[in-house]
Amino acid sequence: MSMSVRLAKKTGFCFGVKRAVRMAEEALMKKKPIYSLGSIIHNKQVVRGLSKKGLKVIGSINNIKKGVLVISSHGLSPKKQSSIVKRGIDIIDTTCPFVLNAQKIARRQAGEGYSVVIVGDARHPEVKALVDFAAKNVYVVKDKAQAKKLRLDSSDKVSVISQTTQSKGNFSDVVKAIAAKRPKELVVFNTICEDADSRQKDAAKLSREVDLMIVVGGRNSANTKRLLDVCRANSPEAYLIETESEIERNWLERANAIGITSGASTPDWMVEKVMKKINAKLHNKRSKKS
Ligand code: SF4
Repeated sequence: MSMSVRLAKKTGFCFGVKRAVRMAEEALMKKKPIYSLGSIIHNKQVVRGLSKKGLKVIGSINNIKKGVLVISSHGLSPKKQSSIVKRGIDIIDTTCPFVLNAQKIARRQAGEGYSVVIVGDARHPEVKALVDFAAKNVYVVKDKAQAKKLRLDSSDKVSVISQTTQSKGNFSDVVKAIAAKRPKELVVFNTICEDADSRQKDAAKLSREVDLMIVVGGRNSANTKRLLDVCRANSPEAYLIETESEIERNWLERANAIGITSGASTPDWMVEKVMKKINAKLHNKRSKKS
């Protein structure tokens, strides 16, 4: 039987991550010291590369005395941004324009008296910043079960927005659960990023057509984990790897058709390394059989 390797339509950096890495690299060529609060993108290998060029990854803004802070593509709380500016520290803002759009909506809707419900992971930096942009009457729910527990009633005006990397299915389940509470008004803003959505759809399709699915990306990357969930829903033979060294031989022994996809913060060169290693292993497998 012939063996095949199929790459998802979209792999490598998304527009927002490409932009953030480019802005950080340009800053590192001009100024120093340059800091980022946590990882600038959720990919260890890329962050390690930026650190070698001089980026200092810090856990708290109190660790900066002078220099420049690069805000990650996930955005940063307005309170933290103004406290940084007050201390005379420059900011390079790489917040993805799609995340900025969600932030604007959160702030405006909260300002107009709506309760703002954010569908997402409360621990994720993008969601933490969105909460601070709304500032009041804001709730985070990860799914419809949590949405059902929200204390909203017929006197509430409610706006729902999404973390940019959520799945449309989960978002719509939450919206339905909130609508069932019959608030006075319900306004829904689908702030899911098209890139994240199309990667999920493509990964879902590919995982139905192959017998092994490899998702390449950071274990701390929300969109990469979501891709794994999407693939696992179709096949138990779906694995998340950060580098080519994690590919297990026995996965390939069982597979004839292999699909590869990647998170939005995975560089092209890492996808290429994974492809190369898989092709080499398949070559060995074919040689043994012949
Ligand atoms: S996944 Fe979408 S929202 Fe997130 S950084 Fe990339 S383009 Fe922006």
